[in-house]
Amino acid sequence: MTRSILGIDADDTLWHNESIFQLTIERFIELLGNHAPSDHLTERLIATERKNLRLYGYGIKGFTLSMIETAVAVADEGLPPTVVQRILGLGREMLEHPVEPLPGVAETLGELKRAGHRLVVITKGDLLDQEQKLARSGLGDLFDAVEIVSEKTPEVYARIFGRFGAGEGEAVMIGNSAKSDILPALAAGQWGFHVPYHLTWEAEVAEVPADAPRYRRLSRFGEVPEHLAAIGWNAG
Ligand SMILES: [Mg+2]
Repeated sequence: MTRSILGIDADDTLWHNESIFQLTIERFIELLGNHAPSDHLTERLIATERKNLRLYGYGIKGFTLSMIETAVAVADEGLPPTVVQRILGLGREMLEHPVEPLPGVAETLGELKRAGHRLVVITKGDLLDQEQKLARSGLGDLFDAVEIVSEKTPEVYARIFGRFGAGEGEAVMIGNSAKSDILPALAAGQWGFHVPYHLTWEAEVAEVPADAPRYRRLSRFGEVPEHLAAIGWNAG
């Protein structure tokens, strides 16, 4: 049967990500503590990051540039080069941070694969960074394909799922972001399994369509097989 394509988001769905950003923001605020109050810094950083998304895209390198830009803007009397060096160091540490799969993810992916589902990672971000994270996660071999895209739109989902031969309602997108993983997948006529992470990046906050017929909210990734069974999907 063809109804066995599972698109799976990576950051905060397969492994921890936003928590690393939040920790880095705390360290950034500490570093700039002499130059601006923390509320103001957080606001400035978020605004700078949003403004730069269009040009830098999603990922740690763009975020590092946004931290530097914010630091330069808030430091009235000029920013010491050592602070820029420390910020670059924060970015490097993020890039080298161990990739820690979320609880139950590896086991569940193994179960889904053994059941015959085709698993496709669909993630946005830096190509190099996302490829390296997948390799370091130890989960890479469980996937049939990896799609690293610059934006997640209904057209992007239609193109990817279409390539696997999925018609309307014949693919499921699984992810933590209502805005990027669920709403555009539903708009493309597919299922959306929403597995919220305990933290949500500001730019990913969106209303979830709780009454949409192809929307499901899960409390953890390990619930994917039972939800697939509940909608009558048996791979093969
Ligand atoms: Mg995500």
